[in-house]
Amino acid sequence: MELELIKMCARDLLNANYAIAFTGAGVSTESGIPDFRGPSGIWTRDPEAERRSYEIFGKFLRNPKEYWEEVLKSPFYEILEKAKPNPAHYALAELEEMGIIKAVITQNIDGLHSKAGSKKVLEFHGGIDKLRCIYCGCRFPRQEFAKEIEERKVPICKNCRSPLKMDVVYFTEQIPTDVYDLSLAEAMKCDLMLVCGTSAVVYPAAELPRVAKRRGAKVVEINFEETPLTLEGVSDYIIKGKVGEILPKIVEEVKELRKKQ
Ligand code: NAD
Ligand code: ZN
Repeated sequence: MELELIKMCARDLLNANYAIAFTGAGVSTESGIPDFRGPSGIWTRDPEAERRSYEIFGKFLRNPKEYWEEVLKSPFYEILEKAKPNPAHYALAELEEMGIIKAVITQNIDGLHSKAGSKKVLEFHGGIDKLRCIYCGCRFPRQEFAKEIEERKVPICKNCRSPLKMDVVYFTEQIPTDVYDLSLAEAMKCDLMLVCGTSAVVYPAAELPRVAKRRGAKVVEINFEETPLTLEGVSDYIIKGKVGEILPKIVEEVKELRKKQ
């Protein structure tokens, strides 16, 4: 069953003119980064952590200094920084290298797609390696402010002198318009969207597969479990299992099919 679906997905990828991937936290669990809502997700185990995550953006607006203190206390960023790409990230990078996948839109903030070699990555929820000004939209490498951060000073935008926050998009915060527009354009343009390791419940990100579907694209999911996309018929089919095992098998299958062409 699984093998049949893997073969079908490889054929669909080869037949597509403009395939893209849309990824979520499930793509990074095999790199040792817990997801939020999966079986051993951070919020599944600690619902209080979910409540706190809704407050952090408000804290930044009210008191940037307190916000930065909280950011520096969080163990999550350290886990993310130490993580390495896994076979799922490498498989997607290889599919791009082969000219099959044209872009990766990711909800992940860990930067692992780029580390694995993917070139066109749209970080829908930002990335931990950057700081962003919500007032003028400028982004800066976090390294540029390493000294301020270490001295516990609030980093200040070099363009408009406002306080900076992490580039990461928090709950209740708007998606930056640049990445939002580019992602929406990709979702409208693609004829195949490979949706990997996302529960597809965080909006507006979860809108992207729906947009692709409405525009006539094929939507294929890879996930341990069914999601609203499966249940509502947005995805054409779901390949159930580990992304780190399934994506490399798809790459192998694509190579086999290409040999026969
Ligand atoms: P989620 O936690 O809501 O859902 C993860 C999904 O992936 C679940 O459906 C789970 O069944 C599936 N999954 C987990 N491991 C898998 C694996 N190895 N193979 C196949 N499927 C697997 O994640 P989400 O939908 O991305 O939404 C959470 C939000 O939290 C995102 O917007 C993201 O910004 C953020 N987040 C990011 C990271 C990261 O950067 N790595 C980690 C946690 C949360
Ligand atoms: Zn600014």
